[in-house]
Amino acid sequence: MTTPSHSSNFSSTNVDPAELAKFSDLAHRWWDKESEFRPLHEINPLRLAWIQSLVPLAGKKVLDVGCGGGILSDAMARQGAQVLGVDLAVRSLKVAQLHAMEAGTQGVEYQEISAENLAAEQAGSFDVVTCMEMLEHVPDPAAIVQACAKLVKPGGWVFFSTLNRNPKSFFFAVVGAEYVLNLLPKGTHEYARMIKPSELADWVRAQSLDVMEMKGMGYNPFTRQFAMVTDTDVNYLMATHKPLSNEF
Ligand code: SAH
Repeated sequence: MTTPSHSSNFSSTNVDPAELAKFSDLAHRWWDKESEFRPLHEINPLRLAWIQSLVPLAGKKVLDVGCGGGILSDAMARQGAQVLGVDLAVRSLKVAQLHAMEAGTQGVEYQEISAENLAAEQAGSFDVVTCMEMLEHVPDPAAIVQACAKLVKPGGWVFFSTLNRNPKSFFFAVVGAEYVLNLLPKGTHEYARMIKPSELADWVRAQSLDVMEMKGMGYNPFTRQFAMVTDTDVNYLMATHKPLSNEF
């Protein structure tokens, strides 16, 4: 149906329908903390605390790209941010909205729009942009990075997280998480789509964002706990900053 694009000019094609369908099919389970989404619920307080350590969220205008069921969007709104969550899987957005209503979360809205189209409409409008566990699911991740860079205000922050690509990450994140521990559904991650930190850093710098900090996310299968670590070989997060002088 949709042809994957390697050019950011054709933003509407920068989506893999099979990837969206995977998330849509599971949408009703986004807020089930024992479901396929358990890892995201467990890492959520860790990534939230890390973001807050670099930029306090209260009063900030935040965009969450590829928000899914709103696990991070909701938590950021609860810290006092004004959050817009965007995704292209409508069922996930409905679940996110319903959760906000049921939980009484203030200050969060959800919209079905691509990052590229939003960037064309609202360049330079967000203090903080988050794009977590999403880049490894799109055909042209560099175009998403470009859109995020466009959407953030000068002086603002963009946070990414994704999965490294090397034998160790294949072993832990694909074989271990999907086939041995059953933490994630089989087929969640495709090796060729996983992204080395050096590649992400190149895309980030090409958009005049500065790489400020990187962290790894480790999982201990014995304690069944996640922790922020220095080792970025498997899951990692990257904090980037748009210099004040870099006006659009
Ligand atoms: N960021 C959330 C969800 C991660 S799961 C979190 O970390 O909690 C990956 C999400 O990316 C899914 O919700 C999926 O629907 C979304 N996604 C995949 N391709 C997309 C695209 N091209 N544009 C926007 N969202 C996309």
